[in-house]
Formats: sequence, structure tokens, C-alpha cells
Amino acid sequence: MSASNARDTFRLALPTPAGELRAEIAVPTRLIPVSDIVPVMRSLGGQALELEDEKSRRAGRELSCRKGCAACCRMLVPVSPPEAFALKDAVERLPAPRRDRMLQRLAALRQTLNEAGLLGRLAQLSETRTQWSDADMEPVNREYYAGRWPCPFLEDETCGVYDARPAACRELRVTSPAEWCRDMERNPVRTLPVPFRISTVLSLMWATVTGGAARLIPLPVALDWAERHAGDNRARHHGETLLHMGMEHILGFLRRGTQAASPPSA
Ligand code: SF4
Repeated sequence: MSASNARDTFRLALPTPAGELRAEIAVPTRLIPVSDIVPVMRSLGGQALELEDEKSRRAGRELSCRKGCAACCRMLVPVSPPEAFALKDAVERLPAPRRDRMLQRLAALRQTLNEAGLLGRLAQLSETRTQWSDADMEPVNREYYAGRWPCPFLEDETCGVYDARPAACRELRVTSPAEWCRDMERNPVRTLPVPFRISTVLSLMWATVTGGAARLIPLPVALDWAERHAGDNRARHHGETLLHMGMEHILGFLRRGTQAASPPSA
């Protein structure tokens, strides 16, 4: 193993409402930007969601989410700053024709949002010093969802950035009939609980390492935000320090209790 690939492995045990999560987590030993901890946090979040899936299955409630069903990809997705960098990298790594089509769809969506009077509010939200509360976000989320604008990263009703999709997309899982998701406001969509929100954990970590505000960036302005703030992601940190920071926030979530996923505000 080369020095640049060297990793320390940590054994973790987290008391989630669906059972104890035991995980072996490997973090780079070298100094890393905070965006490099995203896969580690996603892996932890994914394992916690699997425990919730198993619990639901045991209770006779199977997940309805399937590949090709993207009814929920019409909502306003909140993205933490580290995820915005990861998303930008993922889009830049795509082969040119696909990447260009995706960026064209993003530009078209932004034009539509501008005409609808929403783009400026989303851009303002991405730079605010004070994170908006769920109540503040509610009208923006509703207005956005009313447009049923497909996510620009959607290709033939399948996520085109699947491995880099934001935590909010991963955490919205339903057990009610899939067709109900076409109108998540009118139908009594049943979502699975989320033991801890990885986007919020990453957002709080970002605030700590940069000394700035904890923020969630709306997906249509996330790539722009990452471009503007590339310099803020240059600072390097010990992987172990970032893992401990993330665990503190996760334990804080678990102490406060499991959250329900909440369509249409993701
Ligand atoms: S990033 Fe992928 S999963 Fe998330 S809304 Fe867009 S297409 Fe859907």
C-alpha cells in the first residue's frame, strides 16, 4: 500500500433506533480536505439506513423504491458543502457528451427558476450566514415542488450521478405505493425513519472547519457554489479528526431521536 493510500481502520458501535450499528471504517492517514470524508460518512449513513430497511421488512413493509422510479427527483434537494464539491467532481469526471447534456439541463432549469422568481432566493440561501429553519424553507420547497421540474442529473428516469448523489436523495425511502410519490403533498406517502441526516452532519462539520455558517445548498445552485468556494476546501485535516467530529454530530442526532423523512422538503 502506498503512503498516499494508507488508512487507519476504526471499529464503531452506534446505538440506532433500529439496532446497534457495528461498522469498520477506514479513513486516510494523510491530511485530507473535508470533502474527502464524504464517502466515509455516506457509508455510515447507508449502513444505518439498511438497519431501518431490515426493521421495516421484518414488520412486513417492503421498500417501494426501484431503479427507474424517479418521482421524488422533482423536489428541491439540500446539499451540504462537502457534498457540493463531491458532486461537482463527479459531473466533471463524466464523459464529455453526457456531462455537456447534464450541464445544459442544469442551465435550462436555472433559466426556468429565474423566470419563476426562485433562482435568486436559492442563490441567497446558499450564501446566507444563518441557516434557514424548516419553517422558513417550507414555502420555497412547496413552490419548487409545484413546478415538478426534473433534477438536471436525471437521465431516462435514472440518476446520472448515482454514486455521488446527495445524502438527502439516499435518505428518502418509501414503503407506500410508488405511484403515490407522483404527488407527495396530496398522498399519505409513508417514509422510513432516518436515524441521522448525513447532509446535516457534513454541514455542521463544514461550519466547524471553516468557522462559517452551517448551510445546506439547494441542488440547482450547488455546482456554482462549489466553484465559488473552491478555495475554502483547500485546508487539510487529519482524517481521524474529521471522523471524530462526524461521530460527535451523529451521536448528537441519535440522542435527540430519529427523524422522519419529510417530503416534499427532502
Ligand atoms: S441527484 Fe440523482 S437521486 Fe438526487 S434528485 Fe437528482 S437524479 Fe434524483
